[in-house]
Amino acid sequence: MPVRTVELVLTPGEAANENLWPARLAKKLRVAPEHLKGHRLLKRSLDARKAPVKYRLRFEVGVDEELEPSSEIAWGAPSLNPDVKKIVIVGCGPAGMFAALRCLELGHKPIILERGKDASARRFDLAPIMREGRVIEESNYCFGEGGAGTFSDGKLYTRAKKRGPVAEVYRTLVAHGAPEKILVEAHPHIGSNLLPKVVMAMRESVIAAGGEVHFGAKVTEFLLDDGKMKGVATSDGREFRGDSMILATGHSARDIYELLHQKKILLEAKPFAIGVRIEHPQGFIDQAQYHLKSGEKRDENLPASRYALATTIKGRSVHSFCMCPGGFVVPAATENDEVVVNGMSLSRRDSPFA
Ligand SMILES: Cc1cc2nc3c(=O)[nH]c(=O)nc-3n(C[C@H](O)[C@H](O)[C@H](O)COP(=O)(O)OP(=O)(O)OC[C@H]3O[C@@H](n4cnc5c(N)ncnc54)[C@H](O)[C@@H]3O)c2cc1C
Repeated sequence: MPVRTVELVLTPGEAANENLWPARLAKKLRVAPEHLKGHRLLKRSLDARKAPVKYRLRFEVGVDEELEPSSEIAWGAPSLNPDVKKIVIVGCGPAGMFAALRCLELGHKPIILERGKDASARRFDLAPIMREGRVIEESNYCFGEGGAGTFSDGKLYTRAKKRGPVAEVYRTLVAHGAPEKILVEAHPHIGSNLLPKVVMAMRESVIAAGGEVHFGAKVTEFLLDDGKMKGVATSDGREFRGDSMILATGHSARDIYELLHQKKILLEAKPFAIGVRIEHPQGFIDQAQYHLKSGEKRDENLPASRYALATTIKGRSVHSFCMCPGGFVVPAATENDEVVVNGMSLSRRDSPFA
């Protein structure tokens, strides 16, 4: 019998007990347990559509033959040639960091310029906004190493239909310290407590492979020659020139949009959604999603529950977005005298709010 793909439907307690899986797999395949030579979890999803809530686990199972060993998860790049192309990347958020890794994979040298601080130093700059509502304008929840991603929730799923090499992105994150379970979860989540380490490990990879990362390097000028971008200058007067530029400054860098406009570089307005952030007691969401009676607690093997709502009203789409089970509301402003909120949660998602 060749390697088989098998799905088990299990209670939350059974799904959490790995020792139980081989016997269940053998039963499902109608073979004696000794014929099972190995199994590998491929996907784990929660089916809460009706009570009782069940997990669906999809496995690859070797019956009378061993499974191929899993390929090692590591990130690497070829050595750089002396005549290497230099790519100046403005912004060290997720877009800038993944662009830098990709440049190195293709044999180009990335030079990342980041206006904020490294992720360790940046952590201390969150206290003034949390305690006094005072924003440090170059170092906050959005600016600094890892960009808005560093203290984000780290939910790695989307309802968008657009798909890139998602599995490759997950493997790159795992290679830099993200938990391996993100490779199998239907709704993978890293958590705000683990992300800074992942981000710093990615920076170390960029530097070890021959790239450069400069913090405190706020780009304030584009060096244009005959309508072509040749480099950038920073607020402290340094100039960085390269063969190509990647602007990965994210959504919050309003000064960069102003600079682009001032330089008569074509800008295109994109459609946007507008909304509010709502904080609920997590128990209220659990009760609705896990079909619990009033006051009943969720099974200890179930995660804080999530929801997604979508409808169309008068031809316009209305939907929930960025829900953080067991999370917190955080102030994500980048300037004083503005109010911007977002949401985050720790990897164990255990706050009493959603
Ligand atoms: C609290 C919070 C929770 C979130 N949770 C999730 C989630 O669960 N899942 C999800 O998919 N998304 C989440 N997001 C959104 C996600 O973080 C962003 O979509 C993502 O970070 C965008 O990546 P980016 O690289 O395009 O831009 P950014 O992350 O904004 O990075 C841009 C970088 O450019 C730097 N920069 C800007 N201007 C300059 C300049 N002039 N010179 C030099 N550097 C500059 C900035 O300092 C910043 O580091 C969350 C965001 C926040 C704040």
